Amino acid sequence: MRALQIPNLALNDGRAIPQLGVGVFLVKPGEAQRVVADALDVGYRHIDTARIYDNEAEVGAAIAESGIPRDELFVTTKLWNTDQTQAAAAFEASLDRLGLDRVDLYLIHWPQAMFGEALTAWKSLIEIAATGRATSIGVSNFEKDDLQQLLDETGVVPAVNQIELHPLHQRRELAAFCAEQGIAIEAWGPLAQGKSDLLERPAITEAAAAHGKSPAQVVLRWHVQQGRIIFPKTLRRERMVENAGLFDFELSAAEMAAIDALDEQRNFGPDPRTFDVR
Ligand code: NAD
Repeated sequence: MRALQIPNLALNDGRAIPQLGVGVFLVKPGEAQRVVADALDVGYRHIDTARIYDNEAEVGAAIAESGIPRDELFVTTKLWNTDQTQAAAAFEASLDRLGLDRVDLYLIHWPQAMFGEALTAWKSLIEIAATGRATSIGVSNFEKDDLQQLLDETGVVPAVNQIELHPLHQRRELAAFCAEQGIAIEAWGPLAQGKSDLLERPAITEAAAAHGKSPAQVVLRWHVQQGRIIFPKTLRRERMVENAGLFDFELSAAEMAAIDALDEQRNFGPDPRTFDVR
């Protein structure tokens, strides 16, 4: 099984992360092991899962079965909202399900600012990182204020902020703040979760035609050229291959600008300020 040639990006803690991976949100138990096995076979080495996806055990099984050396893989999982005051135990349970003795990246999944425990969780993640069993630590769905609190109270800068971001929802202010702080952006829903006509917009289809690429490849390339980390989800092996075909072409400044102009500040997932699932 040969690895795809995917660039690594440097995180603010000095670690490297493959810029492209696969995500397994809403990939059901019973399907996730096959999806991850296919992804590893296609050559992906970066997997994004979470406690709440309920597929950590299958992700771990696919990894074990692949025989790929652990240090060639990059595995992310996330602390669920109900565990913010018991992160150490939740982390152990995630490692057990994954069958791993460390993850490469551990994230607080949502800030849940209204409950006021994100800082408690962040302090626990800092302790976990000190043990070396989460190589890097970061957050997800954090707004500027949520990030500022962690910075002010601990001085430890998250390595990443994983946020909904795609051409219809570009989060420019938040992205600029993260850039200033050295926080890498992981764009979730990079294809707007397949819930819009994004792939039919002329800015996308015209660039696709010009480069002999698919609309999805153009959108993913738009992310890559801005230095973002992405892990599009697909259950289909042929789309896994397609979604990795991003590193042999370049969008022009005009093509990038035409996609930039698609911003509608339109999110398809929950709003982090009001999402209060416990
Ligand atoms: P996505 O933007 O990756 O969209 C996935 C959908 O896009 C698929 O269901 C499929 O319909 C379509 N698609 C994929 N490849 C395609 C192609 N080549 N051509 C046409 N359509 C294609 O959305 P996502 O799965 O929500 O996001 C990706 C990953 O981000 C998730 O799997 C998960 O790992 C992560 N995520 C994180 C959070 C969070 O709160 N941190 C939330 C949602 C997702």
